[in-house]
Amino acid sequence: MIRSSAFANKSYAILGLARSGMATLDALHASGARILAWDAREDLRQKASEKAIIADPLEVDLSDYDAVVVSPGVPLNTHPIRDKASDDGVPIIGDIELFAQARRSLPPHRVVGITGTNGKSTTTALIHHIIQSAALPTHMGGNIGLPILSQSPLPAGGVYVLELSSYQIDLTYSLDCDISVLLNISPDHLDRYDSFNAYAASKARLFDMTSAEHKAIISGTDEKSQLIIGYLREEGRIDDIVDLSGATAAGQENWPSLQGPHNLENAITAACVAEKLGISQKQISAAIESFRGLAHRMERVAEQDGVLFINDSKATNPASTGPALGAYPKIHWIVGGLPKSDDLKECEAFFGNVVQAYTIGDAGPMFGNLLEPHMSVDPCEMMLTAVQHAAANAQPGEVVLLSPACASFDQFKDFEARGECFRCAVNSVIENNLVGTATGGSVS
Ligand code: ADP
Repeated sequence: MIRSSAFANKSYAILGLARSGMATLDALHASGARILAWDAREDLRQKASEKAIIADPLEVDLSDYDAVVVSPGVPLNTHPIRDKASDDGVPIIGDIELFAQARRSLPPHRVVGITGTNGKSTTTALIHHIIQSAALPTHMGGNIGLPILSQSPLPAGGVYVLELSSYQIDLTYSLDCDISVLLNISPDHLDRYDSFNAYAASKARLFDMTSAEHKAIISGTDEKSQLIIGYLREEGRIDDIVDLSGATAAGQENWPSLQGPHNLENAITAACVAEKLGISQKQISAAIESFRGLAHRMERVAEQDGVLFINDSKATNPASTGPALGAYPKIHWIVGGLPKSDDLKECEAFFGNVVQAYTIGDAGPMFGNLLEPHMSVDPCEMMLTAVQHAAANAQPGEVVLLSPACASFDQFKDFEARGECFRCAVNSVIENNLVGTATGGSVS
């Protein structure tokens, strides 16, 4: 765990005691801080009670506290803690800000921070893998689900690789990354921001915290990413600004877990970061080839009778599904869930790769109407039906792809549960020898 004298004898109120909140509690407690903690869940309050006073920060005078540490899951745009903290004159921060404040207690190290709408986890894990392959000490943490404060401090020369969501950046004020990376920006999470501009501005704050001698890497071709590059160049404060939007690389056929145009971008970005960290081209290329990817992101689940089954359940918006459709030439596409938009514009360029679409979930009827002019659509509603139909129709050389372009909450607890449901359905069609059994057209 990361401890710091910066927290000793200070007072913190922690709101939200899930993974990162508990890690914050442990790190602050071990560093000698006084803590008040709260969560709506009784079991979590109970768990925290040995290390903190349990009370709701909304009902306590916070004026003597040094900060309120909130979980990134707390919607600050609507939650009363924002006004309460402001009335009591206490800042609201997150665990990444605490990490930033603890850095001076750590052996000399570097930090890579990665944000963007899509590809953060993949790129974070890939950068971490490349650094590890080059035998440098490294940890990854942040939004990838590993609280950074629960990691052991790295020895001198280590590299912390942090995946940063916009919610985490909103709670961070002093994280000066040695390398700050923005992958792309497309409309998402608009329930938490006043506008798309406000969401983009939140991501751009990563660069406001980056000091002049450090590096900025931006890879998005989208309008907002390009606006941010223009702004950074005009401002002229950061010397080393890299625009990777037009960059290309050879060898993707040797990267089994990094297929699709999006993963080409992710690999180019990770390679650029690794190069800036001083890792050799040879080490970078070998590590990109040996990367095994993350579950639920273009994950190869099975191959049967020449048909490949890919789980891309993490594609929760059309901007992440578009490039997934670009990864293979003949796709049976399982799409739908809880929609985030009423169009699929970002997928249109790759409609030519779809043999047939199989719609599921709430978005099914709407997506069916949108897709029917372009392709044959099978309204399936349920995952198992979709997998059975797609597997039966798929021919050798074709791919059954779950890339829903939607959130999962209409039918599943989360995108992981949706991906696991796909995996079970795939196993069941394989066990029952259903692959390629429909002859002479689609099953519906
Ligand atoms: P994040 O952590 O930003 O949500 P992930 O790496 O978990 O990103 O990937 C989320 C989804 O986005 C997956 O479906 C993945 O295939 C897709 N994706 C990955 N990289 C990109 C990219 N650069 N652009 C668009 N979509 C991407």
